[in-house]
Amino acid sequence: MKPLPWQKEVWATIAGSIREQRLSHALLLAGPDGAGKRHFAGCITAALWCRNLASDGSACGECADCLQVASGAHSGYFLVRAEEGKRDISIDQVRALSEKLTMTQYDGRAKVAIIEPADALNVNGVNALLKTIEEPTPGSHLLLVSARPQALAATLRSRCQRVRLAAPGRAIALDWLRNTSGGKHDDATLAAALDHAFGAPLKALQLLDGAGLAQRSDWSRGLVDLAGGRGEPATFAAAINEADPVGWLQWLYGWMSRLLRMRIAASADDDAAIVSLAQRLPAELLDRYIAEVQAMLAKVHGPADKKLLIESLLIGWLALLARAGRAAQNRPS
Ligand SMILES: [Zn+2]
Repeated sequence: MKPLPWQKEVWATIAGSIREQRLSHALLLAGPDGAGKRHFAGCITAALWCRNLASDGSACGECADCLQVASGAHSGYFLVRAEEGKRDISIDQVRALSEKLTMTQYDGRAKVAIIEPADALNVNGVNALLKTIEEPTPGSHLLLVSARPQALAATLRSRCQRVRLAAPGRAIALDWLRNTSGGKHDDATLAAALDHAFGAPLKALQLLDGAGLAQRSDWSRGLVDLAGGRGEPATFAAAINEADPVGWLQWLYGWMSRLLRMRIAASADDDAAIVSLAQRLPAELLDRYIAEVQAMLAKVHGPADKKLLIESLLIGWLALLARAGRAAQNRPS
């Protein structure tokens, strides 16, 4: 299991710690969705067990231990995620994990627990986990994965060694996508997928594999259409709700953040219609809207009516445009 091309530098540090047997008991792997955090966690896990490490300290990918890690069946490997349909990782899940970590392994080798996303731990879960971190079982490692490390309790964050896993620059990302997708897509399609994934290569790959890319192109066009006085929020909301409401909200957050960036620094790759839209919008109004989207992201997992949530955000988008229009009229020329 090789780290991704843009993770080589950070890998060298981690590989050094593994070689010297001083890898921290608790690591916080932080970085945007689709930048390869989970892959990196897999690389660490495999390297802790592999008996045939490569010269860069990465796992061979072929020995019995590596194959077991790859299939998720290794006896010293535990993955903790929120249960189906739930938002939080429960205290019971954390307790069960702590128990498994404290039982001794058959041959005293490493045990690894991946908690993903770590920001799904609730207060009780965090407290239970803190005990495990403060009295670690020798050879046990917790890998906390999070795209929102700021949402983690400070008490937990401060006890973890933070490993930053950023998305690569555009050229490296496109190169990787080209190689990984096996020539199935032309460069324009790869670039569009990367745009809709906000620069995160693994997310882009996922969009290319399914209907995600076409969906996001529709969403983008829908927002531009609404801005141009075309289309109805209710109709658009129904279509989004049918397709992928949570995916839309996450995408909308990224899309609006990108508008904010475009106001200041549009690049040649950016869509001209979207750039001109961005330049019409005052930063403080966009900021406020982005905060609204964030608040909705927290609600969308609950019992709230998703279609209504989406519709209210679309109406908010129209209100933002109207306010921006009035602000422009009042500006002295
Ligand atoms: Zn191996």
